[in-house]
Amino acid sequence: MRKSLRVAGIATACAVAGAALYGTGAATADNAAARHTAEPHNIGLLVGEIDDYYGAHQDAGGVWRSSPDSPYAKDLARIQAKAKKDIRKAAAHGAKSARHGKKPAIVLDVDDTSLLSFDYEKSTNYTYNGATWDAYVKEAKRPAVFGMPELVSYAKGKGIEVFFLTGLSEAQREGAVTNLARAGYDTQLDTKHVFTKNKTAPPAYLGHCATPAKWECTTVQFKEGTRKHIESTGYNIVGSFGDQVSDLAGGYADKTYKLPNPTYFVE
Ligand SMILES: [Mg+2]
Repeated sequence: MRKSLRVAGIATACAVAGAALYGTGAATADNAAARHTAEPHNIGLLVGEIDDYYGAHQDAGGVWRSSPDSPYAKDLARIQAKAKKDIRKAAAHGAKSARHGKKPAIVLDVDDTSLLSFDYEKSTNYTYNGATWDAYVKEAKRPAVFGMPELVSYAKGKGIEVFFLTGLSEAQREGAVTNLARAGYDTQLDTKHVFTKNKTAPPAYLGHCATPAKWECTTVQFKEGTRKHIESTGYNIVGSFGDQVSDLAGGYADKTYKLPNPTYFVE
């Protein structure tokens, strides 16, 4: 299930923490002494750290943006520079493997790998809701993740095929594809290049975990099974890009690239 392990109720947690702080008044000799506890990272501080990481700010329309000079953008740039080197090598090698009938390809996740959902995360206080998320996806107004359209253009220029593989539903395909085009992804965005999670009419290649009667595939099974299918149609996936570990596990990619995302976790 998408974002099932997300942090929820940050606003409530912060309000309670604030009340407790003001309720105690001046520190006594006893409670001023630092004691080690095994408590988790403080959620109020964590939100501030995440804001700093993304260079969070609101534009004139009130939309939350990440800054192109933020630590987040710099981390992305470093990963992308490495990926471009790998793509350049794979393309050179691919010229040989193409003779054996395999064309080099890359696979990209969509949410927070190709399209940035930071405005949704900030606006909802990092609290996922299926209905508001669906409306947000269908608005198709997300900006690109910094540098990713350029990475796609670079790969295309080297003769690499580009596929998108997303846990978004078939009903969200149009929103995703419209958004990808708007955000500057200059590549084929047809049904042969964009794979969604079609629970009502699952493809046969997903096997026993997905039948029209019941969908039981984990994210890893869905993504691994789809990559296996892509490779079976004549491609060698040289690079797989995702913001979640579950995007990348399971094989059928020569190299994997984990992009940063400290805002939610997908099993
Ligand atoms: Mg993602």
